Amino acid sequence: MEKANESIRCSVTSCRHHCTSKDYCSLQTVQIGTHEYCPTEDQCTDCKSFALK
Ligand code: SF4
Repeated sequence: MEKANESIRCSVTSCRHHCTSKDYCSLQTVQIGTHEYCPTEDQCTDCKSFALK
């Protein structure tokens, strides 16, 4: 059972690092980045630690 990191809330249940029972990430840290040249809104940012289940 993975331990929830209560400092990182996340709802991406298809990620292997998601705590299925709670909406938290189980990693100690995550890398956030962007796929845009000049990000201007939340949709421009990505969790680069995502890994498909
Ligand atoms: S690695 Fe990123 S996408 Fe995956 S559960 Fe953690 S915060 Fe969510």
